Amino acid sequence: MKDGQKQTDLSRIEIFEGAREFISEATGLGFQCIIVSDSHPKYVNTIVKEYFGNVSALSLADKPNTLNTLNFLRSQNIEILDSNCYVLGDSWLDIELGRGLRVPTVLTAFYEAKNLEIRDGIGDYVKNIKSGSTYYAESYDDILNILRNPLQNLLCLEAGCRGAVSYLARKPRPDDFLQDKSLTAHRILARQSQGECDKYDIREKYFEFSRTNRSTELLFTLRDSVIAYIDRILEDRSFLWHIFTYVPDKRTTQPANKMGELFDLIVELVGQRTASWDCRSIFEWNERVNSSTRRQLSAEDRRRFVRNNLILQEGVNVNGQNVIIIDDNYTTGATAEIVAEKLRARGAKNVLFIALFHLITPVYSSKLCPKCSKRLQVKINRQNGNKFYSCVLPRYKGDGCGYTENIV
Ligand SMILES: [Zn+2]
Repeated sequence: MKDGQKQTDLSRIEIFEGAREFISEATGLGFQCIIVSDSHPKYVNTIVKEYFGNVSALSLADKPNTLNTLNFLRSQNIEILDSNCYVLGDSWLDIELGRGLRVPTVLTAFYEAKNLEIRDGIGDYVKNIKSGSTYYAESYDDILNILRNPLQNLLCLEAGCRGAVSYLARKPRPDDFLQDKSLTAHRILARQSQGECDKYDIREKYFEFSRTNRSTELLFTLRDSVIAYIDRILEDRSFLWHIFTYVPDKRTTQPANKMGELFDLIVELVGQRTASWDCRSIFEWNERVNSSTRRQLSAEDRRRFVRNNLILQEGVNVNGQNVIIIDDNYTTGATAEIVAEKLRARGAKNVLFIALFHLITPVYSSKLCPKCSKRLQVKINRQNGNKFYSCVLPRYKGDGCGYTENIV
């Protein structure tokens, strides 16, 4: 409980400009707004009554646990599965609540927090983004646009998998401008969830992409979605890019040429759009490398692994060049950092690292393990794509007993 232990002084509470107008606009679209707060009713109800009239509100919600919210919705006769429901909020607690409810989420960033709050994480950009919201909004108008056009506002790969077109990517961390004004930017084009998530998450596509029997259809969908984003880059004249490349596959990677095959498909279309990009492989893995970045547990281990094993080929001249590099997944950004470091060491200027799938935080199910009563997590079988509940073992970063149950 953050607020409400003391008497609430309304004169010290500011509401966001446009908040009330937003609620009436959303109501006009057919939505019912509900306030879900971890604070005490003395605080929540006082504010709601003063500013929002008859909007219903849940206090002491205990986010991201879903139990109180589900009970509250039930008491209001709202069946979440039959509703077109969204969770909006400015912290990972809200986003993980929404994922636990399996509804789309909007992370709002209307202001910059002055202090970093440990519990709420407001202001902790990376942590909030990593919680994996469906959408990201900087204003009430952005939210209304999302509510009106849910498919076109998805991340570009997620939209592509739904037959829609979007050019939206997300920053997994703020852009980094160096002293000489050159830029390192990271972008992600879809979410790869762990545990519960909304219907737009495409983690099963990531697993299919990583299987030897992946479909050509999937590769074409990925290609077309990446191209929608690349078209956006080409339109933006503030940066002119010279080299387009990718993080190559190791000799032992299955499917062989996992990323290379997709890169070649994308390059065909890039070639129809611009002749000024030099599209080719410029990195290679150390021949003796026999592990994968994914197996390195900490970000520091991954940095060391990539630094020692990924080689910018001899004789490739990147001096003064702006480089775009594409990779299939993004966990902490360690690969992206080292790739940029290696390019810079050889004189490259701006570096844009684009990852297809962002591994977002695990969200546990509300279902409990019948053996040890810990919360279960929804997992996916890498080989066949089937979903199952897992009581996650410590060796997979859980604290459970290893019980599993298929989801039918
Ligand atoms: Zn268990």
